[in-house]
Amino acid sequence: MKQYDVAIIGAGVTGTSILYTLKKYTNIKNIVLIEKYDQIAKVQSARTNNSQTLHIGDIESHYTLEKSKSVKKAASYVASYVDAHKGLHRNIPKMLLAVGKEEVKRLKLWYEERKELFPYMRLINREEIATVEPKVIEGRKENEDILAMYTEKGYAIDYGKLSESFVQESGEVDIFLTQKVKKITKEQDYYIIITNKKTLRAKVVVVAISGNSLYFAHQLGYAKNLILLPVAGSFFCGPNYVKGKVYTMQNHKLPFAAVHGDPDVMNQNINRFGPIAKVLPMIERFNYSSVLDFLKLFRFRFDAILSLIKIVSDPIYYRYVLWNMMYDIPYFGKFAFAREIEKIIPTVKGSALKYGKGIGGIRPQIVNVDTKMVEMGEAKIIGNQIIFNITPSPGASVCLNNARIDVKKIVEFLGKEFDEEKFNKDLAWRS
Ligand SMILES: Cc1cc2nc3c(=O)[nH]c(=O)nc-3n(C[C@H](O)[C@H](O)[C@H](O)COP(=O)(O)OP(=O)(O)OC[C@H]3O[C@@H](n4cnc5c(N)ncnc54)[C@H](O)[C@@H]3O)c2cc1C
Repeated sequence: MKQYDVAIIGAGVTGTSILYTLKKYTNIKNIVLIEKYDQIAKVQSARTNNSQTLHIGDIESHYTLEKSKSVKKAASYVASYVDAHKGLHRNIPKMLLAVGKEEVKRLKLWYEERKELFPYMRLINREEIATVEPKVIEGRKENEDILAMYTEKGYAIDYGKLSESFVQESGEVDIFLTQKVKKITKEQDYYIIITNKKTLRAKVVVVAISGNSLYFAHQLGYAKNLILLPVAGSFFCGPNYVKGKVYTMQNHKLPFAAVHGDPDVMNQNINRFGPIAKVLPMIERFNYSSVLDFLKLFRFRFDAILSLIKIVSDPIYYRYVLWNMMYDIPYFGKFAFAREIEKIIPTVKGSALKYGKGIGGIRPQIVNVDTKMVEMGEAKIIGNQIIFNITPSPGASVCLNNARIDVKKIVEFLGKEFDEEKFNKDLAWRS
């Protein structure tokens, strides 16, 4: 049985950024990365399965000022990394669009609070919006209030390529692809990891398999008060109406991003509109065997059922989720969705939109069965020589900061060293 200091399970952007940070900035070299598919980043972090945005806290209008500050720091590591490595991103314009009196008022306040934090952002009026994104103004009512916060310096990132780059930059390391971890047990000072092909031992384990991490946490007796609300996000594709990312103002009660439109990071001729959120009983989109994984996690516990009923019976949720289900109706769905997109592109035609088949992912939103509430943001469970990462949006944007936090803990577990100063210096963002 091969023995490692650290085993990382899951080769998405979370697992690979931890591998990179360990290899480059610590004296731990005996590491293994285990992945169930035959490629790096085939699930949430794949280019097609997320919005490809570097969320840095400037256009996320549901964030508090404190959250904007912390996300800016956390996401700046990725901005710096992609600036230094070719082919992982494109710099594209980005705007937060406010439509109607109430939203315009909110945007002005939002901007006032953040103009020093994000000095590259500026407010632009109808005339300037028409210059930078003509389709946003074309066909819009003359008397409709409209304002936007705008920058040319947005980041569209291929998080799949970013994950591959982390692996390449890590140099020599054991990587076991097509190995699904079935079981993790603890035996004295080691964890025993059983995959479909082999069994190995590791002193420290990092479980970075998105929603599935919670299953192994439960298996080892951790965080039994947490379950998942899997929120799927799909997209419609259309012609190149917009040149940059156009985000809209957020409904504060919803944990998923407001609808936006943007060009695909690798194909500017395609615009993607979404995400369209709906609750699905599965952990991995388009993988129907993951319904079983969801049920194993859920186990029909009474408190879990009560929590989910309480959450989805909130009128804000169920109206939103039911309405979004309409968009799945073949042929008619795209016409219904076009009405929503009119806020961004008033002249959009349903006939120009196409349901993005195979595009989209699942956000593993955490639900606390004690409070029966959705817990926003990512979840990290730290156990005895083991860490579990569950990473809803913006998990990809903040992956290197997450890696920094995990690596600090890992060196503590093993009595090794982390050159955090060098990490911070190398990845300082020069915006
Ligand atoms: C619609 C949508 C839009 C999003 N947009 C953005 C965005 O614009 N910006 C942003 O920052 N974030 C965004 N996110 C969130 C982001 O995609 C995720 O936070 C991030 O990709 C999670 O990375 P991960 O490595 O934790 O998970 P994943 O990329 O899913 O990686 C987990 C890996 O674990 C593997 N695995 C699973 N089970 C096992 C097992 N038993 N054994 C071995 N391997 C296993 C999987 O195959 C996979 O490769 C979005 C999410 C959704 C759903």
